[in-house]
Amino acid sequence: MTTIRMTTPLVEMDGDEMTRIIWADIKTELLLPYIDLKTEYYDLGLPHRDETSDSVTTAAAEAIKKYGVGVKCATITPNAQRVEEYQLKSMWKSPNGTIRAILDGTVFRAPLVVNCIKPSVRTWEAPITIARHAYGDIYRNTEYRVPCPGKAELVFTAENGKQWRETIYDFEGPGIIQGIHNKDRSIASFAHACFNYALDTKQDLWFSTKDTISKIYDHTFKDIMQEIYDVEYAQQFNAAGIEYFYTLIDDAVARVIRSRGGFIWACKNYDGDVMSDMVATAFGSLAMMTSVLVSPEGCFEYEAAHGTVTRHYYRHLKGEETSTNCMATLFAWTGALKKRGQLDAIPELVTFADTLEKASMDTIEDGCMTKDLALITEIKDPKVVSTREFILEIRERLDRMLAR
Ligand code: NAP
Ligand code: MG
Repeated sequence: MTTIRMTTPLVEMDGDEMTRIIWADIKTELLLPYIDLKTEYYDLGLPHRDETSDSVTTAAAEAIKKYGVGVKCATITPNAQRVEEYQLKSMWKSPNGTIRAILDGTVFRAPLVVNCIKPSVRTWEAPITIARHAYGDIYRNTEYRVPCPGKAELVFTAENGKQWRETIYDFEGPGIIQGIHNKDRSIASFAHACFNYALDTKQDLWFSTKDTISKIYDHTFKDIMQEIYDVEYAQQFNAAGIEYFYTLIDDAVARVIRSRGGFIWACKNYDGDVMSDMVATAFGSLAMMTSVLVSPEGCFEYEAAHGTVTRHYYRHLKGEETSTNCMATLFAWTGALKKRGQLDAIPELVTFADTLEKASMDTIEDGCMTKDLALITEIKDPKVVSTREFILEIRERLDRMLAR
């Protein structure tokens, strides 16, 4: 069989632990036999990040800017325990945070819905996509502990020396403070990404913040979104028969639970972080959530929404069989390949990625699945398989479909 040719490399970012193992298996079994895979490889595994003093992460982000499409494996965000475990030179920052800070943009997360797994929320009939603003707020904060009584102030010094000053709090004892920020430019690019995604996928767009309490910070998000919508998108939304509306985050939560799904919920950075895990879990599993970062310049980074599945990895190291779900990682690859195929006008690549996605969904709907799904499926007596067996089952179906 001839393999599919690629013209532009994908930026491939390898990662850590169990997902690193899955990464290699996906490539060997499901990609390399079919595609003349062209990637520019960056090893974001923690040992190599440490060796390069994390410059590899920045280099990978720059490469995404250059080529336009990247695919990333889950990576460890080091904490004190990891510094010890890996004997690190420094407690390196979250690679996702570093990449998002360089690319800016919005993360879209949508659950993979299979007919044998019913969402925990009975009314949900269609996937809910979370659009997460991926810049600023507490992810770029400055914070410290206040050690003793004293006055905390918020000071802004303009370029020309003019100052604004507000008392945050007169501390009568120890406490905590933090400073956060966001930029009009980043909020505007979030708005454009959300409106375009809604038009692309023909889904309603909801946006929520806490503007009743945060009368300037959150309110600015609301105002910028509304202005851009009114001037540039209202007519297109009308023509497409879709709707944009703003509501308070607490109201949004209640409406989401009562909804039938099938819309995009735009959230600020932290809300999006938390709500995407809730939505993913309620639809089935974090391993069934796709995630893509869309930058204002039109770059795309595909990843899984879950972590490196450490507990499974330690079992794997002991030689025990694992049953880790590879769907989110696989869909990161298919999403990136499809995008590359569209940008480079290689329809075979798009078709291949679609077929691979279908083969993997069919595998689950045939009742063959990893343990996380077996626990929640409607199918009686599912065939529970190991990490590797699951990939081989997908390959069998893929080969059958490609032979047709
Ligand atoms: P995690 O890797 O997402 O795993 C948490 C638990 O969720 C697992 O122990 C497992 O539950 C279940 N799970 C997650 N993904 C699964 C899959 N594909 N198949 C089956 N079960 C799955 O989160 P974590 O343990 O909190 O974090 C581990 C490491 O990942 C940390 O070092 C963290 O920094 C990193 N992390 C990276 C990213 C990223 O790169 N995008 C995101 C989050 C966390 P059971 O053990 O009950 O089976
Ligand atoms: Mg999270």
